[in-house]
Amino acid sequence: MLYCEKCRRNTEEDRCPECGRKKLREIREDDPCFLIERDVIWSEVIEDILKENGIPYLTRGRMGAALAISVGPMFEKNRYYVPWACLEKAKELTDAVFAEGKNEEPQSTEEEGD
Ligand SMILES: [Zn+2]
Repeated sequence: MLYCEKCRRNTEEDRCPECGRKKLREIREDDPCFLIERDVIWSEVIEDILKENGIPYLTRGRMGAALAISVGPMFEKNRYYVPWACLEKAKELTDAVFAEGKNEEPQSTEEEGD
């Protein structure tokens, strides 16, 4: 398995599927790999899953902070990266969530003042 340091992508090809770069190196267990990109409304769901399973992650908003403010947080997406050693498990976990037809806004189940 090879790894693009620029995009944090793992690939079996000889070039990065994202940037097309050919300067890839052999992947290491602790390399952060792209897991998923989701609207920020999902961030809590994704982060809870990863935390519950003890998977460390990095996150990076796709937009710069200034742009996010001008457009509004609704349109911002977060990208999640997990160590290569955890990628397969993390994918299973997030796939399980997003494969259940729950590809909509998470329901606000906060019932305050019961
Ligand atoms: Zn790349």
